[in-house]
Amino acid sequence: MPKPNRVKFQFISLFAILLITPLLSAQQDFSAVEIVPHHVAGSFYYLEGAGGNIGLSVGEDGVIMIDDQFAPLTDKIIAAISQLNNGEIRFLINTHVHGDHTGGNENMGKRGVLILARDEVRVRLSEQSPEEALPVLTYNDTITIHLNGEEVHAFSVSPAHTDGDSFIHFRTSDVIHTGDVFRTTAFPVIDTNNGGTLNGTLAALGRLIGVAGPDTKIVPGHGVVSNRMDVIGFRDMILDVKSRVEPMIAQGMSYDQVSAADPTSAYNARYGDSERFLRALYSELSGQP
Ligand SMILES: [Zn+2]
Repeated sequence: MPKPNRVKFQFISLFAILLITPLLSAQQDFSAVEIVPHHVAGSFYYLEGAGGNIGLSVGEDGVIMIDDQFAPLTDKIIAAISQLNNGEIRFLINTHVHGDHTGGNENMGKRGVLILARDEVRVRLSEQSPEEALPVLTYNDTITIHLNGEEVHAFSVSPAHTDGDSFIHFRTSDVIHTGDVFRTTAFPVIDTNNGGTLNGTLAALGRLIGVAGPDTKIVPGHGVVSNRMDVIGFRDMILDVKSRVEPMIAQGMSYDQVSAADPTSAYNARYGDSERFLRALYSELSGQP
């Protein structure tokens, strides 16, 4: 088949995927999903279900929640929280805009839960969501909630996974929820369509390494509880891949040539498919879209 047809076909496939993906997630069957609570330290728990890990501070003042997975799971999530604490869910902080972290916002907003996020998250969510799903309190730098004897400190980081990422540090329990900037299950996802960047990812991970102590528990957006050394390993992996790709770009290699050279080979067994990461990395380092 001549090349133009193949290119055209790939474009059509891409559009089909872009059109179908939101429909699939809207129609995804969540009936088999179980919400599993894990205690991490002090007042902090996280809930595993489908989508991003939900962080919780539970105590005598009620519940502070980080992210809320998908809308069809809200009842199950609330049931799981009520097993841990019979108080009110007071606040919900969104780590970033993605639907597997904010899908329950509308349900939570309608229940009167006060939603917080960075200014950028509200702007992006308002393009696709009803008023009830939008953060009511927004911040451009940091905000701290004082409940349950806990200091819950949300702080903005450089444009990394998206341009609206926050890390949430539960200072009394010494736990940090990182949203999707850090994950243990895959190569970094740099969502360039939502303002994510490679250099911002490196800066945000560097900030996390600076804020965390040796005993700090780090809860990723997806994956298992980790520590500062795990974040250093993840950051160093990105630096290693970057240092392999830079000279290839300096030699004028195309994305396909770089991809064929497999600069992530040492990490593929652990993190799986590297294409999306490599495309974002190549695009930012080469200045080519
Ligand atoms: Zn995400």
